[in-house]
Amino acid sequence: MIRMAGVDKFFGPLHVLRNVQLEVPKGQVVVVLGPSGSGKSTLCRTINRLEPIDSGVIEVDGQPLPAEGKELARLRADVGMVFQSFNLFAHKTIIENVMLAPVKVRKTPASEARKTAMELLERVGIANQAEKFPAQLSGGQQQRAAIARALAMKPKVMLFDEPTSALDPEMVQEVLDVMTGLAKDGMTMLVVTHEMGFARKAADRVIFMSDGEVVEDSTPEEFFSAPKSNRAKDFLGKIL
Ligand code: ATP
Ligand code: MG
Repeated sequence: MIRMAGVDKFFGPLHVLRNVQLEVPKGQVVVVLGPSGSGKSTLCRTINRLEPIDSGVIEVDGQPLPAEGKELARLRADVGMVFQSFNLFAHKTIIENVMLAPVKVRKTPASEARKTAMELLERVGIANQAEKFPAQLSGGQQQRAAIARALAMKPKVMLFDEPTSALDPEMVQEVLDVMTGLAKDGMTMLVVTHEMGFARKAADRVIFMSDGEVVEDSTPEEFFSAPKSNRAKDFLGKIL
């Protein structure tokens, strides 16, 4: 579903992605681990072309990412993204936030978009917050609204970049539960997270990045019990 081959990315002189090879088959959940600055966010951002790459190829569902134009918009709509900061539109209600892209980009009739939005808000457990504004919700509720908003475009793939890092500890689990539900429903997911419980339970694979390189690509069991590289051993020593 996602295929990256020989991907390099520079910020000026800084080589932030180094010959990245990564395949995420349909329905797989891949957790991305690695120290700060290792390129995890950049990796996510290249997949829907928020960041252009300098060499290599990235395909989503067998289609190479075009550089720009209508084709890019269409492919981007296939890739849902959820960030650390929820990025909801402050002056729109929760349900309006969820309906917006389907109506504007997919030209879905408003009545249908509303119905789907309500179903998604049910699914993430905040249907009773539909008419509120983002500031009236807790962080965990806002992040669940952001997930519903991404799902409203019926993406083929969901990317999560530290979706729980900005949350108070008591709200982390409710967001992870929604993500676990998505994983069980067969969504293809790439998840950057420091939540090792989620990585162990929900991930089919763990990739470990260091200095822009994918250094390990293994099952969670292998990674946590017997990391191969010293860099991964170091990293696990610090966080576990
Ligand atoms: P963290 O765990 O702190 O979120 P990360 O693994 O997500 O880190 P990235 O944000 O992908 O790391 O950054 C990789 C490298 O690229 C870092 O050295 C960072 O400083 C640099 N970088 C990221 N974005 C830019 C940018 N827009 N311009 C220049 N350098 C950047
Ligand atoms: Mg990051």
